[in-house]
Amino acid sequence: MSKNELSPLNPSAAGAWLGVMGGGQLGRMFAHAAQKMGFKVAVLEPAHDCPAGHAADHLHRADYTDTDALAKLATQCAAVTTEFENVSAKSLAFLAERTFVAPSSDCVSIAQDRMAEKRFFIDCAATSGVFPAPHKEIKSDADIDMVPDDLLPGILKTVRMGYDGKGQVRVKTRDELRNAYAAMNGVACVLEKMLPLAYEVSVLAARGADGKSVVYPIAENVHRDGILFTTTVPGPNITPESAQKAQAATLAVIDQLGYVGVLCIEYFVLKDGSLVVNEMAPRPHNSGHYTIDACITSQFSQQVRAMARLPLGDVRQHSPAAMLNILGDIWFEGDSNEAREPTWDKVLALPGANLHLYGKDTARRARKMGHITFVAPTLEEAQANLRKACTILGIPA
Ligand code: ATP
Ligand code: MG
Repeated sequence: MSKNELSPLNPSAAGAWLGVMGGGQLGRMFAHAAQKMGFKVAVLEPAHDCPAGHAADHLHRADYTDTDALAKLATQCAAVTTEFENVSAKSLAFLAERTFVAPSSDCVSIAQDRMAEKRFFIDCAATSGVFPAPHKEIKSDADIDMVPDDLLPGILKTVRMGYDGKGQVRVKTRDELRNAYAAMNGVACVLEKMLPLAYEVSVLAARGADGKSVVYPIAENVHRDGILFTTTVPGPNITPESAQKAQAATLAVIDQLGYVGVLCIEYFVLKDGSLVVNEMAPRPHNSGHYTIDACITSQFSQQVRAMARLPLGDVRQHSPAAMLNILGDIWFEGDSNEAREPTWDKVLALPGANLHLYGKDTARRARKMGHITFVAPTLEEAQANLRKACTILGIPA
């Protein structure tokens, strides 16, 4: 890589292109942020009808491992990032031989593998002060016999490719574990002890190529059926001690990774108040969408700044925020297959409502279609408006 590629990119220079691997909503919101600052955006994605493709200046419609397309993207773009966590680390390494890539393939490959991720968290524990849940890798039936009794009840998770609670089974007994593992068709898994969660939080941080980092206000997350339901910032349950501890731990991890870009780490706060690290996402995160409407610099603008080696932006939150994820279920009448259109006019009449729809034509149940962030002078008002939106949209509160 030439020296020039490590100096800051000038967004108004001719051909100032940024590339994104993946065409989902994270790529779409990244494109909006990059274009706002004057960059052009190229997306590489196999599907032609994709949320980021509609927003990008150029779509390379190709498989994530297509070396011809990757070479074209690298030639076109002064820097490339990824919005899709399961992009092959090999593809990122291929790009990195030709252009600046952030985050690096090494960092992404740790986050793609739950065991590598847990090992990394344990390596960081001396500085971060937090550990992952007690767990055991399960790669054979013999491993199941070796599972200590106190890891049950637990959650069996695939080591790779899990998201939104997919690839996870809750098991109470060793027999249930055996059946659940058999149903995974031989893929490597990890059994985690089921912990008594009081609430869940996530911390978004960003680190520049110069090694400087910033950390956003901590977010409190509620999941439903394994999918993020709401994010509230400031979190109603979070104590200053656990906030400080989780933020410090996140900065320790991002530093030890030598990471460049936006990273999100999910934590559990247990009923006894202790903090456990769950997993990390090497990219902007659903729980960080509130930053678009409630912070000086959104997580997507921050990703643009980090990959363009520009100074990182102010992470200050100017308004309390409550974010509601919008899933495809609300395009259907109750439990039926009868289609309906959500009444957005009524939602947008609520004070402080910021609607984000991702441009997906087909609504399916459990599919992320958009989100709404309510901002207000007080958290209580933001939360009250979120609850009103749930009533309007027919989402059980
Ligand atoms: P996503 O990618 O959407 O964040 P995921 O599919 O990677 O999710 P996890 O974050 O590992 O899955 O787990 C999903 C949810 O399941 C967690 O947010 C938490 O509510 C619950 N959960 C996961 N692991 C445990 C555990 N060890 N003890 C108790 N609850 C857990
Ligand atoms: Mg998770």
